[in-house]
Amino acid sequence: MIRVHILGSAAGGGLPQWNCACANCVAARTGKIVPQTQSSIAISGDAQNFRGWFLINASPDLPEQIESTPHLQPHRDSPRNTPVSGVLLTNADIDHALGLLLLRQQETPLIIYATDETRAALAWIERELARFCGIEWRNVSANFQTLSDGLAFRAIQLPQSLAFQFRDDTSGGTALCAPSVGELTKELRNAINSSDLVIFDGTFWSDGELAAVRPGARTAHEMNHLPISNGSLDLLRQSPARRKIYTHINNTNPILMPGTPERAQVEQAGIEIARDELEVSL
Ligand SMILES: [Zn+2]
Ligand SMILES: [Zn+2]
Repeated sequence: MIRVHILGSAAGGGLPQWNCACANCVAARTGKIVPQTQSSIAISGDAQNFRGWFLINASPDLPEQIESTPHLQPHRDSPRNTPVSGVLLTNADIDHALGLLLLRQQETPLIIYATDETRAALAWIERELARFCGIEWRNVSANFQTLSDGLAFRAIQLPQSLAFQFRDDTSGGTALCAPSVGELTKELRNAINSSDLVIFDGTFWSDGELAAVRPGARTAHEMNHLPISNGSLDLLRQSPARRKIYTHINNTNPILMPGTPERAQVEQAGIEIARDELEVSL
């Protein structure tokens, strides 16, 4: 059995973002929509007691996310321990990596699966952590490798990021976690069509969305995020996956606001919109 917790469903900056007065950020501040923390996913394949959790990206909001997720909290049988076994990084973006610094107090080196490029870009974090627990870097592979008891995973290389596909060895259930997608490669398409659960990059609805709030801002494509509209929507609609969920949603994205036509299109396509603390088992 695979269990997944969405720890944070917002893109970098969160919802609301400290310096943003877009419609969604204002709505989140005034209680019209629920605030969301920055993107991270926890996954476990331990059907017995769900020890052995891995994080897909470690956001700056990690302490708060752990405190709102009992599965990730230390057990009371010893004074210092954690069910968090390691971290898988999609890339070196600051909203995916800052949480690593918050894991520094552990006694054994922090296990991190990442590409050599990500590792090189995070040399500054590695230097800081060397004074505390240190890092044990692990390589990723395009073929399935064991992550923990009963759970295997593989990395799908995308332009400037990775997606991860997980497989439960007992049930054969598969989950695709792709919170940072710049391009629909053939391999990613195959994974979308061969997974029971698809958690996908929902950062932007449209390519020019950010420029509408902040003139001169880069497009979604320039920020290495495939927009939903004219991007991932049709493919996800057609995917046979049992559950399809958009996450890593930027605070400017109209799908966050109930009643918008954009949100209706996503819902009509059979795709869910992630929220913090959403839990999925398969
Ligand atoms: Zn991000
Ligand atoms: Zn905003």
